[in-house]
Amino acid sequence: MNENNKREVSLKRAAELKSRIQDYLDIKDKIPTGYDVEEQYNQQKAKLLKILGGTEEDWNNWKWQIKHRISDVKTLSAILNLTDQEIEEIKKSGEKNRWAISPYYAALMSKDDPTCPIRLQSLPQLAEILDDSGHEDPMGEQYTSPAPGITRRYPDRLIINVTNQCAMYCRHCQRRRNIGEVDKNLPKDQLLEAIEYIRANSEIRDVLVTGGDALMLADSTLDWLLGELRNIPHVEIIRIGTRALVTIPQRITEELCEILEKYAPIYLNTQFNHPKEITREVKKATDMLAKAGVVMGNQAVLLNKINNDPHIMKKLNHELLKVRIRPYYIFHAKSVKGTAHFITKVEEGLEIMEKLRGYTSGLAIPTYIVNAPKGYGKTPMLPNYLLEVDEDHIKLRTWENRELIYKYEE
Ligand SMILES: *Cc1c(COP(=O)(O)O)cnc(C)c1O
Repeated sequence: MNENNKREVSLKRAAELKSRIQDYLDIKDKIPTGYDVEEQYNQQKAKLLKILGGTEEDWNNWKWQIKHRISDVKTLSAILNLTDQEIEEIKKSGEKNRWAISPYYAALMSKDDPTCPIRLQSLPQLAEILDDSGHEDPMGEQYTSPAPGITRRYPDRLIINVTNQCAMYCRHCQRRRNIGEVDKNLPKDQLLEAIEYIRANSEIRDVLVTGGDALMLADSTLDWLLGELRNIPHVEIIRIGTRALVTIPQRITEELCEILEKYAPIYLNTQFNHPKEITREVKKATDMLAKAGVVMGNQAVLLNKINNDPHIMKKLNHELLKVRIRPYYIFHAKSVKGTAHFITKVEEGLEIMEKLRGYTSGLAIPTYIVNAPKGYGKTPMLPNYLLEVDEDHIKLRTWENRELIYKYEE
């Protein structure tokens, strides 16, 4: 083939490749990000500041945000156009299950659209109290706690649950049973017992500090706890589990970043579920964390009517990478009592994975995980690419569904 022909073949293939994502190119600008709704957000923010009696400075203060969490229908009705039926639902369901929304996250809610992904994650629905399927503790976390606050399900790593507090109580919460009526941190003597357990077990090289939301702890407590963990020679990695980046990005302050920088390497895993959650405030916070050397990952939860759509999930992963967060996991929602309306079929998750590999950067492809029953561990789910295994060859299929034989050389 001469040079001209090679170029012609390449151009034809390039056009074919572009056509593979034409459906996404047609739709991607119709999926709103937080930047796209900034004007509405600013109006809602102004309204909330007036109702709550706050200033711009207050808005940017995470403690003000926590103190003024919205958990009454009156405030909500002042910023949203709720139908009588919605008001009734929130009251009835909210009586049984705790709800609270940071003013920041509330300002991102659509005024009129009940299907807004922020509304669906925040507002109590009747479905929660009508659901009598599922379990309070499907992972049996109560049976995998060798020391106070600790969940150990793997050989070399574990979780410490340091608080039950969150800036916002997600309607799909997998640890609803721990939310209770009051916020409480793990008492210091129990925290010390947890640290002693880690110190005594030298195979533990990775400690995940979570909750609730680990960043609901005060800076001084975090500073002390991270210092204790960093002092244990076999603890190589400290991870923080937090949704603060999503629900209260004001929590990321200079002071916090100074603390995190001291105890490197720190990994921070968060939970963005929809592109609408990625805002200018989020970008500011992730810039600060990146400067402090914190490595960020995202653990999305696959949620019915929120993100069970290949295009939405792809856009979410692209927007995350733009703010330096690497998509890490997509979790299949667990069968927690009161959350049945959020749960999808595993096939939907597989379809999302099918539409990512090859169609977009490997960087934008998380691992899809089903948590095995009884707490036996995260189990990856993948579309099948391996069709045949033989002595001298395998048969595979590519992302475009081409079936090919790969032969081992002699
Ligand atoms: C998810 C989880 C971890 C961390 O697992 P990775 O796959 O390493 O992210 C550790 N301990 C428990 C109990 C967990 O549920």
